[in-house]
Amino acid sequence: MKITGIETIQNTKYSNLVWIKLYTDEGLTGLGETFRNPQAIISYLHETCAPYLIGRDPLRINEHSDNLINWTANRYIGYPTRSVEYRGNSAVDIALWDLKSKASNLSLVDMLGGLSRDYIPIYNTCAADGYNWNANSRSRSVGSTVVKKEKNNYDDLEMQAQNPGELAQSLLDEGVSAMKIWPFDEFAFPTKGQMISLENLKEGINRIEKIRKAVGNKIDIMLEYHSLWQLAPALKIARQVDEFDVFWHEDPINMAHLKDLAEFRKNIIAPVAGSEALGTALWYRDALALDAIDYMHYDLGWIGGISEAIKISGIAHANNRMMCPHDCTGPIVWIANLHISLAFSSSMILESVRSYYNGFYKKLVNNLPKIEKGFAFPMDGIGLGTELQDSLLKSPNTIIRKTSKNDL
Ligand SMILES: [Mg+2]
Repeated sequence: MKITGIETIQNTKYSNLVWIKLYTDEGLTGLGETFRNPQAIISYLHETCAPYLIGRDPLRINEHSDNLINWTANRYIGYPTRSVEYRGNSAVDIALWDLKSKASNLSLVDMLGGLSRDYIPIYNTCAADGYNWNANSRSRSVGSTVVKKEKNNYDDLEMQAQNPGELAQSLLDEGVSAMKIWPFDEFAFPTKGQMISLENLKEGINRIEKIRKAVGNKIDIMLEYHSLWQLAPALKIARQVDEFDVFWHEDPINMAHLKDLAEFRKNIIAPVAGSEALGTALWYRDALALDAIDYMHYDLGWIGGISEAIKISGIAHANNRMMCPHDCTGPIVWIANLHISLAFSSSMILESVRSYYNGFYKKLVNNLPKIEKGFAFPMDGIGLGTELQDSLLKSPNTIIRKTSKNDL
């Protein structure tokens, strides 16, 4: 089998998402996805990846993973994780695994060795329509309402700020017993994360307190810091928050500073999760050597795709640590996360966004996993078990660019 062309797909409404489709001479296709800075990624995929991939055997994933990271793109300049190149390579890698699974007539989870469990618990990330959708500064964040929510969908972003207790109860009503919130982010921006006033600290804590008052200890709270803080204010927040028994502190500081991270972890009670931005196998090697991390929260679309996750799962196993892959972006990475989480026994919990999988994910792909009573179940079908919707591909807001052999 040979790769005959690559296609990039982007829709202006959700423009941070980039999909790649690999075409082959046997009619099979592979689908991948990545997120953020889309135009640069699209250029990279056509300019650098297409000439490498076209004419090659897509089933030799190990060779392509190594070549794309270590030779074709990275050798001379040494791009760090989360660069355009890494994200482009991640999308390619996911597509190669989708393709290889289809060529083997297997579901991706079976391609990875088969189920290690029948289902995995989920937690809800309290985002909503418009959050991070667009590749411009007008994307929605907590406290802004640039994109109106779609009819009947959840607005967990608004709720986490305005009515966190009611939000927690509505999740429990659906059987979801863990939630992620980021009540301190808005206070980091004015000071670049250098300090937090006592007033702002108490305001953020008040949202956590409201959850405990509303539902007691029935829900677990993942506390997200988005790497916005310096060590001292991060510790100031975490020490006070520990009183409420949060489930984890996620990306509390710039996660490149591993000694600071180890210092943070030593001085707080709840475990530390990270890093969606930096969490390659090499980063975990160093982070675990310094006892800087508990939960391995990496993003398939940013760290090299499924091939890198396989390496990370070996590190998790050898260090007796648990994995909990990140997704608050698009449906393909989320579904790939599900396959990995069901295949690798080190997996603990699956990040999920109910306003996405009950909302715009349905417009993007034709099959989503069953979510029931706080658990995610295996996909039907072969490969990832999903494809982009025809209506998305035919939409006037969708931009498709293809590179084939004749274009090279
Ligand atoms: Mg995060």
